[in-house]
Amino acid sequence: VGGHPKPQAAPMKPSGVKRILAIGSGKGGVGKSTVSSNLAVALAKEGRKVGLLDADIYGPSQPRMMGASGRPASPDGKIIEPLHSHGVTLMSIGFMVEEDKAVVWRGPMLMGALQQMIGQVNWGELDVLLVDLPPGTGDVQLTLCTKSELSGAIVVSTPQDVALLDARKALDMFKSLKTPVLGLIENMSFFTCPSCGSEHHIFGHGGVAAEAEKLGVPLLGSLPIDLETRLAGDSGTPIAAGEGAMAQAYAQIARGLVE
Ligand code: ADP
Repeated sequence: VGGHPKPQAAPMKPSGVKRILAIGSGKGGVGKSTVSSNLAVALAKEGRKVGLLDADIYGPSQPRMMGASGRPASPDGKIIEPLHSHGVTLMSIGFMVEEDKAVVWRGPMLMGALQQMIGQVNWGELDVLLVDLPPGTGDVQLTLCTKSELSGAIVVSTPQDVALLDARKALDMFKSLKTPVLGLIENMSFFTCPSCGSEHHIFGHGGVAAEAEKLGVPLLGSLPIDLETRLAGDSGTPIAAGEGAMAQAYAQIARGLVE
């Protein structure tokens, strides 16, 4: 890595990788990266060989969420050695730039970096490689969907109308690119008051389930607003690494993905 990555015709599905699944969202802040890291950890706990590629060029959060830092080694200057964290093989655009620096690459450089991260990383044997996409429907998504062999895509949304509206666009993009949509995940779907125990639908109610039904795609799970999830992500040990209710919820979604 380093220097100026140039686009090259590296194969976009590493030979040892069985399936590449992209995780997208219509807009930022809905929990796409949180869901990605937790699903990766949950799949690893289920005994799968899992890779996680953080392709969120505008805000790579996986180094922090997975508690991994450092520069991936490249002894021969070609093949890049990924990092490993919580049982997951990990590569992030964040390992290639400083944490507080913006990624200000132009399109071709970005595409080159992305192709390197798929084609030149020593992913090894993986049952599944999860790709944490940037939010929206831009160049990165387009490159990934057209130049790599994606087995499917998952879209994360909150129940909020604006998020759902954008999620619909993301779904439409995958559809027009002929990437099968495996389903929707509703995040921040409700908050259980720790004092009175009642459920509050802070971002609305039922929207994602209704959308999934309308579009004929499965609702893979509904995850609550959960303080421990946020704290765990910030501390670099995803909540799915533990044993509580949230870890169970992620385990259930993970099992549905690999059945
Ligand atoms: P995105 O990748 O869609 O931009 P993130 O995963 O970075 O979103 O999440 C945005 C913020 O919301 C983070 O601080 C994260 O810890 C928090 N967050 C995500 N999901 C939940 C949840 N279910 N409960 C509480 N906080 C969450």
